[in-house]
Amino acid sequence: MEQLLQVNDLITSFRTTGGKLPAVRGVSFSVNEGETLCIVGESGCGKSITTLSVIGLLPNNGEISEGSIKFQGEELTTKKEKELRKLRGNDISMIFQEPMTALNPVFTIGYQLMEPLKTHRRMSNKEMRSKSIDLLKQVGIPDPEKKLKQFPHELSGGMRQRVLIAIALACNPSLLIADEPTTALDVTIQAQILDLIDDLKTDLGMGVVMVTHDMGVVAEVADRVMVMYAGNVVETGTVDEIFSSPKHPYTKGLLASVPNVDDTDHKLEAIPGSLPNLNETIHGCRFHPRCPFAMEKCVEKDPPQFKVSQQQYSKCWLQEEGISSEPKDRAYS
Ligand code: SF4
Ligand code: MG
Repeated sequence: MEQLLQVNDLITSFRTTGGKLPAVRGVSFSVNEGETLCIVGESGCGKSITTLSVIGLLPNNGEISEGSIKFQGEELTTKKEKELRKLRGNDISMIFQEPMTALNPVFTIGYQLMEPLKTHRRMSNKEMRSKSIDLLKQVGIPDPEKKLKQFPHELSGGMRQRVLIAIALACNPSLLIADEPTTALDVTIQAQILDLIDDLKTDLGMGVVMVTHDMGVVAEVADRVMVMYAGNVVETGTVDEIFSSPKHPYTKGLLASVPNVDDTDHKLEAIPGSLPNLNETIHGCRFHPRCPFAMEKCVEKDPPQFKVSQQQYSKCWLQEEGISSEPKDRAYS
């Protein structure tokens, strides 16, 4: 599998009246063709800002302060907006969370589907129309010819999300970024949309970066998982490693908060405490105020990424040689 995206030591900050606040603090990861990487963590952990940095759509007061983002070997952080626009919707596409606000209410579905084709492909109106119909079919939308003439409010939430996926796929992107693509949808539609993205990944060989706070979604679609906490990557691994032998206390906390269908006695265990503010200085490990395993060392020094296996890394002192087993009495129940 070819590597599509390589992000190294990314630092993304927000300029505020109180100074520069880092939301992403030295994040590194890669995505291969035909692979889904899920980025997980609570809202505000930096997962969306990470993907917006990749696609060059940061809010006005946001900026990449350091690091490198290479897409198909090309550095993106030094590209001009004009060059990035050529990539967006063409080689890299993004699907956002809210299908109602992501579509423009005053334009027809057909108009919005043809928009990326107009921007990136030289096609006649007839070609664009037939391509749009193919795209709607590809994402399982019935009666595509009629849909082209309809407006977003005439479609259900699930159908609107399919339209957004169709728009994202219009130019056959190599990389699809999906930020909480199913959060606003009910469970049945959610499952259908996740299946659809998974099928498209396999059929088209796309790399997918999926941002979610839902471990159920991760279990469904991920090949690899990257767990973020307070702007840092705290654990990465294959989906099997993350679910069967999570190493970082934060990952364990996230998993403990997932209801288990086989175990009806299992308590829903939310991780106590909340994410630190961007301007909060925390010495040592940024998770220590919430960590049931925190040791003296954790407060003194920020842990590095410790290699657990070929693909699994954990940013936690518990992985340091000699302290490999955590105190049992303090585990999440
Ligand atoms: Fe907890 Fe310490 Fe590991 Fe941080 S380094 S997650 S505080 S045990
Ligand atoms: Mg978000």
